[in-house]
Amino acid sequence: MSSFSEENGELYCEGIPLRDLARKFGTPLYVYSKSVIQENCRQFISSFSEHSTEICYAVKANYNLTILKTIFELGLGADVVSQGEFERSLKAGVSPTKIVFSGVGKNKGEIERAVDVGIAAINVESLSELLLIKKIAEEKRKIVSINLRVNPNINVKTNPYIATGLYQTKFGIADELITEMLHHLKAHPLIQIHGLACHIGSQITELHSFEKAAVRLKELAFQLKELGYPISRVDMGGGLGISYKKDELAPSIAQYGETLLKIWRGSPFKLYLEPGRAIVGAAGGLLTEVIHCKQNRERHFTIVDAAMNDLIRPCLYEAYHDIVPVIAKKGTPLVTDIVGPVCETGDFLGLRRSLTPLETGDLLFVKTAGAYGSTMSSNYNTRVRSAEVLVSGKGVEVIRRRETLSELWQQEI
Ligand SMILES: *Cc1c(COP(=O)(O)O)cnc(C)c1O
Repeated sequence: MSSFSEENGELYCEGIPLRDLARKFGTPLYVYSKSVIQENCRQFISSFSEHSTEICYAVKANYNLTILKTIFELGLGADVVSQGEFERSLKAGVSPTKIVFSGVGKNKGEIERAVDVGIAAINVESLSELLLIKKIAEEKRKIVSINLRVNPNINVKTNPYIATGLYQTKFGIADELITEMLHHLKAHPLIQIHGLACHIGSQITELHSFEKAAVRLKELAFQLKELGYPISRVDMGGGLGISYKKDELAPSIAQYGETLLKIWRGSPFKLYLEPGRAIVGAAGGLLTEVIHCKQNRERHFTIVDAAMNDLIRPCLYEAYHDIVPVIAKKGTPLVTDIVGPVCETGDFLGLRRSLTPLETGDLLFVKTAGAYGSTMSSNYNTRVRSAEVLVSGKGVEVIRRRETLSELWQQEI
């Protein structure tokens, strides 16, 4: 679903002209559509309604408090990967019993906090972590709920930096080691093993990869059940991809649901999911203004006020974002590199784009930047982080104000 539309050559978000947002709030500006976020959450809920399912939004995709609140209000839980995300989620109103804690490097303080608050599950990723949890549970004399995160050794078609389900990545416990690991826990009074988890990667558009992971997890879950472990949950992680290019087809949330339910329907396991990108990715974009245009021998550059510190995905993963003028212009298209002001050759938002000639002051919209955009932003080159606004049928809300320069050196001594 998209609430970004074009009318008479001008771009709107839920009926509000992007041009007005740029004028009122300045650029660069992250713009989100509330109805798209809500609609994606509802799609997840309805696609899995026939099976007992907990949908835990992956907070790292976009962790703005207002966005978290919007998502939690619809009944979703949270998947967190740090104590910071954990505290944010609590602050945004989610119940701790709807939080799962993922990540390869949870430290003592983080585990202690999760144990104190009492969360749905810690997804354990190594024997070392398991022994630390055991020690903390014994010290505190508290019951801890865990899942074991399995590495099912599945190769998915995505950028290698975000493929996480292969043995050569740092994630999870190799599937063949799971039973051996459980011996360390046999009937421990304080550790409750609820289930198995996996997360095979991100921006996955081939449904059969999820199917393969589900089949492997189901096999293992039944195997453990037979061995006497009270396995009652399976967490399939996140990873559902979205369409970044017009001609790139991503499966719908409903198709994803059907693929997973084909495997889990009728099974005794409660299903957990951890979608991030599929909920917020298409709900946001980055509004930016052209500062200068220049021709350097064979290459033409459009220099805009957003940069790799605002949106690092193109630089980090060679990710593609569609970039369109906010107000359509006439003229013969020109091939140009859309770059930011940061002093790195990797600082680009889009290379070799064909656009009608632009000039200083024109606005561009970098589409589909709602996930892993703002949350990966930094202050590199001592640049302030962008403001963020949430547009809903009722109006526009600033959900993060632009940083000020003096805030950037406030912590320094
Ligand atoms: C990043 C991550 C997710 C979310 O992935 P998306 O591709 O955004 O859906 C879910 N679970 C875990 C463990 C993750 O690390």
